[in-house]
Amino acid sequence: MKATIAVLPGDGIGPEVTAEGVRVLRAVGTKFGHGFELREALIGGCAIDRTGSALPAETSALCRAADAILLGAVGGPKWDDPNAAVRPEQGLFAIRRELGLYANLRPVTTHPKLMAASTLRPEVLAGVDMLVVRELTGGLYFGEKKRTADRASDLCEYTVEEIRRVVRRAAGFARLRRKKLTSVDKANALETSRLWRHTTREIVHKEFPDLTLEHVLVDACAMYLMRKPSSFDVIVTENMFGDILTDEASVLAGSMGLLPSASLGDGKRGLYEPIHGSAPDIAGRGIANPYATILSVAMLLRHSLGLAREAAAVEKAVDAAIARGILPADVAPAGTPSASTVAAGQAVLDAL
Ligand code: NAD
Repeated sequence: MKATIAVLPGDGIGPEVTAEGVRVLRAVGTKFGHGFELREALIGGCAIDRTGSALPAETSALCRAADAILLGAVGGPKWDDPNAAVRPEQGLFAIRRELGLYANLRPVTTHPKLMAASTLRPEVLAGVDMLVVRELTGGLYFGEKKRTADRASDLCEYTVEEIRRVVRRAAGFARLRRKKLTSVDKANALETSRLWRHTTREIVHKEFPDLTLEHVLVDACAMYLMRKPSSFDVIVTENMFGDILTDEASVLAGSMGLLPSASLGDGKRGLYEPIHGSAPDIAGRGIANPYATILSVAMLLRHSLGLAREAAAVEKAVDAAIARGILPADVAPAGTPSASTVAAGQAVLDAL
């Protein structure tokens, strides 16, 4: 097949990890006979430096014309002034909004070889295989913001339609997995959560009666994620709860450097990125873990290009690289030599 893929490396370790993702994409193209056209563009801090905008018009146009987008990360201390008029993350928010990407998928699994990289006990981690679906374009982060000298507020707002579309998406994935959907809210305290719970119940009962639906309060969910994480199949939740819970869930896998994500809308086009940020503390040293980005490439192949076999091959290759003990510094056992970004990428290519 032919496909155009926009590549937005961004800032910090973004360019280092996307370079490995690109190598894997090219290898998949060659091995399976696909014509992938990869086109690079600016986003985030580097885009501000060069053009004054975090999402230049050229980048936006490229993303609209592409079948899928692979992104590294944006941000860093250079652009950290919270009062600046233009900030790197505006580029990310803008592209998600422009493309209508409202469902953020974050799968979390554990690898036997990496049990020691987690702070949790192996028996707690055994069998963890969950998909968190986070609403991405509503809630507190996008509501009206007000600030006076001694007062500030952020409005949390959701419409029924915004809840329905993301719940449908999550329920569709649950149907293809173990058929259990956990909806996370704070219905004992928030009106938006009461609407969330009511709407979710309605959609699932009407359209997905084959699923088991449970409602869990976000504070309890934070605790269950550490106590019995293997009990979760698909979790669906609003924007901020999802943001926080997925960082917490990354502890299960051992590091943020292992976790991929996909942001989807109604069509096939999606944006794929590791869940971690630009890691300025290790940028430029060639030691960032590229597996999260490479696993994001697998999600891109599966969800935007419909290439399930190729996606599975990439996931298997990452598994094999980890099983061989090719472990970057964030997951290598203390006192053992660790793999560089390029060496980890190469191990995946070798396995492919
Ligand atoms: P971060 O995810 O960049 O880093 C947190 C910690 O995890 C750091 O110690 C870092 O070294 C480590 N880490 C992250 N990814 C790693 C990898 N692939 N391999 C090895 N170690 C890794 O979060 P932060 O430090 O809070 O934020 C740094 C910058 O990134 C900030 O400017 C923030 O705004 C931005 N950020 C961007 C995104 C995004 O682009 N989607 C997401 C989160 C944060």
